[in-house]
Amino acid sequence: MCGIVGYVGSQKATPILIDGLLALEYRGYDSAGIATIENSTLKVLKDKGRVNNLYNLDGINELEGTVGIAHTRWATHGQPSKLNSHPHMDNSNQFAVVHNGIIENYADLKKFLETNNYKFFSETDTEVIPNLIHYYYTNGPVSILSDSKERFLGAVKSAIYDLKGSYAIEVISTICPNEIIAVRKDSPLVIGKGDGENYIASDIPAILKYTKDFYLLDDNEFAVINKDSIKFFDNTLIEHNKAVKNIAWDANAASKDGYEDFMLKEIYEQPTAVRETIGSRFYLGKKCSFDDIHITKEYLQSVNKIFIIACGTAMHAGLAGKYMIEHLCKISTEVDAASEFRYRNPIVDEHTLCIYISQSGETADTIAALKLAKSKGAKTLAISNVIGSSITREADYTIYTHAGPEIAVASTKAYTSQVVLIAILSMYFAEILESTSYAEIEELKASMVDLPSKIEQILDDSSKIKDFAQMVYTEKDMFFLGRGIDYTVALESSLKLKEISYIHSEAYASGELKHGPIALIENGVTVIGIITNPQLVEKSVSNVQEVISRGAKTLIITNQILPSSNFDYVFNIPNTHPLLSPILSIIPMQLFAYYISKFKGLDVDKPRNLAKSVTVE
Ligand code: GLU
Repeated sequence: MCGIVGYVGSQKATPILIDGLLALEYRGYDSAGIATIENSTLKVLKDKGRVNNLYNLDGINELEGTVGIAHTRWATHGQPSKLNSHPHMDNSNQFAVVHNGIIENYADLKKFLETNNYKFFSETDTEVIPNLIHYYYTNGPVSILSDSKERFLGAVKSAIYDLKGSYAIEVISTICPNEIIAVRKDSPLVIGKGDGENYIASDIPAILKYTKDFYLLDDNEFAVINKDSIKFFDNTLIEHNKAVKNIAWDANAASKDGYEDFMLKEIYEQPTAVRETIGSRFYLGKKCSFDDIHITKEYLQSVNKIFIIACGTAMHAGLAGKYMIEHLCKISTEVDAASEFRYRNPIVDEHTLCIYISQSGETADTIAALKLAKSKGAKTLAISNVIGSSITREADYTIYTHAGPEIAVASTKAYTSQVVLIAILSMYFAEILESTSYAEIEELKASMVDLPSKIEQILDDSSKIKDFAQMVYTEKDMFFLGRGIDYTVALESSLKLKEISYIHSEAYASGELKHGPIALIENGVTVIGIITNPQLVEKSVSNVQEVISRGAKTLIITNQILPSSNFDYVFNIPNTHPLLSPILSIIPMQLFAYYISKFKGLDVDKPRNLAKSVTVE
């Protein structure tokens, strides 16, 4: 998690660094800090709390350095405190480091350094890194080098060689005051190329307003960044060239653009995100195609099992995908949490296709689960929103959602885009396999094209959801019910509510309620039923009646004509193909979670304990 920014140029680094941190705050927000170099001295200012706190730190306006690194933390080792905040320095105050990730063997390294008289002041795993660099700079084989630049890079390389775990690291040093060294393994880092100035960040949006030209650093690759040059080295320090990627995202897409919160903005961006994700991947009467992948009929016929593997919201998108793939392609599909899949020795071979979904493309568990399936001979397909992200570099095939940058921690437009993309992928497979009639696929395509305007219709009605949210925002518990694909939306709705409102909620398959959880229903408990499947309307309504009989307050989200009317509140959504209903029924549920959070006066975009891209296990 955590956000990293770096700047080398001719301007004062601090405003650019703070600006970048603010844009990255969704990655972690318990502490923040900055290091710059001035007159051959490292200046470090840091403290616990939000990035904005940096403005209150004594001396922040006097930082004149034009080279600097910065960090917003999501603590893994040691509570949020000034001492544990990054940047961390070595004992000689010559090296400053910011780090994203976890150094798994930090205890051993600390012991080793302590026996060499190094002292530690924080509880973090990170503090071993600057001290190890100092150790190698003064004791390692590189210590005999006369060129200080080579010696600095060599010392960083030796230190990195000792680390186990995941890291994205920036290092500055008084020894080479005009450069930043960056390196990563299993944590993201991008380098933005400017004109006479260069930038580093853990995520593209942080520096999108300065440049659209990016280098995506690879695992175990080192970059040495000066104001006029960016050099890349492999893990043996052999220099190589690297292609720059132009990222077409609009810089405004990473700003609030007049909305009160990023989450609200992103909810309202869903018609565009869906439209962009459909793009030119299909037209009525024409088969689906992807620019980026070509899958053969022979290969698909050899697949007897599909796994969809993801975490959190992306896993819920995958659950909707299971219904689509099984219905359209007739291939048995299982959905698994990446953190479970990777440790349960799954039955996977060359006849298995594994699909991985990760908005950021940096989710640690999902990447590990992908590597596992690959090692067992399966083909892997990644769905991501971020071009060139780690997962896309590991997978055999990649297709992208075109949701634009998603900043709010609670995912909205990435989810709907993922569901749309899996729907297109399922149609693409079904057309290759000829497993579904032409007529049904055409009907699906027509329904999909209508989705953006139907989402707009729901958004125009948002005040009704706001009213219901106002009625129930003080509740302690809520239940979400659904059958079939509606159950997958119930799960996602419940997650959204938990994430940003801190209200305890449970999602149940409506038919499961009687097998235990109905014992929790009593007078006044809020139950939300999602009912969109025409074949299951009566059964779903009966389940809601069972909770009404026990005193529940009910809200129904539906596109059906219901056989009874004793619900407290009904929110009608437009009709669509049953497989696409999650893309519409989730919209009022996102708004519901949003308004509850607002009524409770919470920070919608930065919910407690969470961070956007989960780059640790
Ligand atoms: N493990 C480091 C710490 O706890 C870095 C955490 C992060 O990625 O923010 O300080």
